Amino acid sequence: MSFVDTFNSLNWDDISMSIYAKTAQDVERALAKPKRDLEDFKALISPAAEGYLEQMAQLSYAATRKRFGNTMSLYIPLYLSNLCANSCTYCGFSMDNRIKRRTLNQEEVLAETQAIKKMKFDSVLLVTGEHETKVGMNYFRQMLPIIKPHFNYLAMEVQPLDQVDYAELKELGLDAVMVYQETYHPSTYAEHHLRGNKMDFNYRLETPDRLAKAGIDKIGIGALIGLEEWRTDCFYVAAHLDYLERTYWQTRYSISFPRLRPCEGAPIKGEVQPKSVMTDKQLVQLICAYRLLNPEVELSLSTRESEKFRDNVLPLGITTMSAASKTQPGGYALEEQELEQFEISDERSANSVESMIRSKGFDPVWRDWHSAYSG
Ligand code: SF4
Repeated sequence: MSFVDTFNSLNWDDISMSIYAKTAQDVERALAKPKRDLEDFKALISPAAEGYLEQMAQLSYAATRKRFGNTMSLYIPLYLSNLCANSCTYCGFSMDNRIKRRTLNQEEVLAETQAIKKMKFDSVLLVTGEHETKVGMNYFRQMLPIIKPHFNYLAMEVQPLDQVDYAELKELGLDAVMVYQETYHPSTYAEHHLRGNKMDFNYRLETPDRLAKAGIDKIGIGALIGLEEWRTDCFYVAAHLDYLERTYWQTRYSISFPRLRPCEGAPIKGEVQPKSVMTDKQLVQLICAYRLLNPEVELSLSTRESEKFRDNVLPLGITTMSAASKTQPGGYALEEQELEQFEISDERSANSVESMIRSKGFDPVWRDWHSAYSG
């Protein structure tokens, strides 16, 4: 059994219709409840809830402070390689793009690690393109023992792997894995994933099951907002989370909500055209809705979003932020300027993000917050 069974019992069009049919009364009922379910979540992400944003923000703020206190966890991505054997229409690393490819060797990885440590980070997200042969298990087996001793918390965002591989990586110090479905709409998924293993929708969909079975501490899920109608896609993320929490209650979960960013090779060079545009206000609505559905889940916001947006939304439900990110292999010590996966929006240094967090009355936490507070 896996999430695929639950997924097959859901119908995209029915869910979409039911979200858009939600009324102000449904929203008020959801807001008044101490514990909310997926039907309440539909109401909270519906157009009917747009007039309740202030109230949602207040409740979301209170729920987040109650569970997480005034803390903000910080992490940084470390791009190890931009090789990729997939073709995704929205990504600069897509195999069809004629860009310079680079995979860091052991010395380069160490240099990047040291540059990151100088910025204080103790929680790192390793990122690669999806290239099974050149940046697969053999590469990870070499690199994790070099990187892990320097960090309290080690996360990865790489191609989906088998359960046995995750179990092995856990032994090498892997704590968390981010694996985004991109979109839960199978035919839209097929339109955007044109070549390579990533075309296998169900294998990707079952990845969190394999991760949980392998005993990985934390799993990150999400949809790439813009590929499909965002409310329905984000409902599927919530349903996925609901399934995972009920099935694997010992695992921790994180949700991300990346919006499409410009990248090399996008439909119009440098300009991605999302099918569904989500405004800043709607992203705030979504963040609050996730928090009101689930007081425990980590909500993570990356530097894809602008400085101003990140500063403003920080208290409303977010628990984890990236900072000072470079999205190209060699972006820190090696000062590689090209090869980036997508353009980041918030380009501030780690120090400057730290100061902003403190100015808002929050304590920056440089390691995974859970391990930081559980000793
Ligand atoms: S999104 Fe991932 S799999 Fe797709 S081209 Fe980019 S790096 Fe490769």
